[in-house]
Amino acid sequence: MKVYTFPRGGLSFDVPAVPPKDSSVVAFLPVLTVIPMGSSSGGRVYPLVNVGERVREGMLIGRAGPGEANVHATVPGRVARKIPWKDSAGNPCDALLIRMEGAFERLGRREEAFSWRGMNCYDLQRIIAEYGVVEMEGSGVPAAETISAFRSAGETGSLVVRCVFDDPWLAADYVLCKERLAAVVEGAVITVHAAGKAERVVFAVSHGERDLGEAMLAEAARWDIPASLVLVGSRYPQRNRRELELVLRDYQKTEGLELGSFLILGPATMAAVYDAVKFKRPPLDRYVAVGGPAVKTPQVMKARIGKRLGELFAECGGFIAPPKHIARGTPLLGRAVLNLDEPVSKTSFAVFAMLKARSADHPEGNCIGCGECRIVCPVGLDPEELYKTITAFNSGVPEGAAECHGCGCCEAVCPSQLPLSGVIRGNLRGERYA
Ligand code: SF4
Ligand code: SF4
Repeated sequence: MKVYTFPRGGLSFDVPAVPPKDSSVVAFLPVLTVIPMGSSSGGRVYPLVNVGERVREGMLIGRAGPGEANVHATVPGRVARKIPWKDSAGNPCDALLIRMEGAFERLGRREEAFSWRGMNCYDLQRIIAEYGVVEMEGSGVPAAETISAFRSAGETGSLVVRCVFDDPWLAADYVLCKERLAAVVEGAVITVHAAGKAERVVFAVSHGERDLGEAMLAEAARWDIPASLVLVGSRYPQRNRRELELVLRDYQKTEGLELGSFLILGPATMAAVYDAVKFKRPPLDRYVAVGGPAVKTPQVMKARIGKRLGELFAECGGFIAPPKHIARGTPLLGRAVLNLDEPVSKTSFAVFAMLKARSADHPEGNCIGCGECRIVCPVGLDPEELYKTITAFNSGVPEGAAECHGCGCCEAVCPSQLPLSGVIRGNLRGERYA
């Protein structure tokens, strides 16, 4: 079976102390959960409960404004406090501290399954929105808004389930695919119906996980929707939208198929759609890869959303030495964790603790003109030149900079540890350096 890869640049990397991908470990239920009333969009979430009130497991406790997702309690309990918080982009919002008490209505119980066949796309989209499903693999955009935008664009297309593990820190989503394969596939079929204009499911799977892709295809055969398996490369950033679309267009040409436009979503989002539509259950747990050289026993954990990261590390045996850098996401694009009271969120697929400070924390060196950044840039940019132009002149966006999609490859390979992608992306956001 042909493996489709993007044409230039990118990198393969191996990192130490990534959790094994065999199975997940269920984390202890948190006595205290931290539930922020906002994500990274800067939109508003309006709290529906006050301090002292009781909440049920899965209860709606925050109603979302545009660009945000509804917020639910993930454990039964009482709202202990409301505290000032900052969302992942630094926007101020409140967070509710919920102290666990009372009975779980869902955990350990057989839940009633609802039939979704016969529902129209608008009903499905409304349920996905009501239960707070977001793009769980990073962006956190409400999934219902993404689906609606795809449908409104008018042309027919394909749902692409992105199971591209081009980064070892995606171990949690790999384990989720294995442990919840039927839910991921049925979630994809539901999403096709919700999207209205999607006519096919394409499972884009890293070629090293061919067995997983074939198992997905076999499961999809139970449903009356055309499905395809595309084996893709595992060189980073294969999962980026641009690089994925390149290989899907190549596949389309080779196979003589018409795939139309692409609605690209990840497996954790598909499982969340399944839970919402089939069981009227919001995302309560997240599979999280917990690891890094500072962690005693790295593992993939299934943790309640709202559980504090410090507790997750403690359940992995704690630290072998004080970490110099803790972040969530991936080492290339991760966001620093400044406080171990930060909670697991819907988008927390990995959290890691390093024994060394990240390169951006070191004093910068001078460019030695090695050209490595040019070699790895998948877009064909000259990151060295862009960096020098941006830092030398205090205005404007240099030609070509807008093409940068912030993959971080250039910065990762720079021997002088220059913050190349950070400066280029910052320039696009209007930040000035000179
Ligand atoms: S961050 Fe931008 S400039 Fe750097 S390698 Fe990626 S696309 Fe190229
Ligand atoms: S990788 Fe770093 S040192 Fe090498 S050319 Fe690019 S900016 Fe200069």
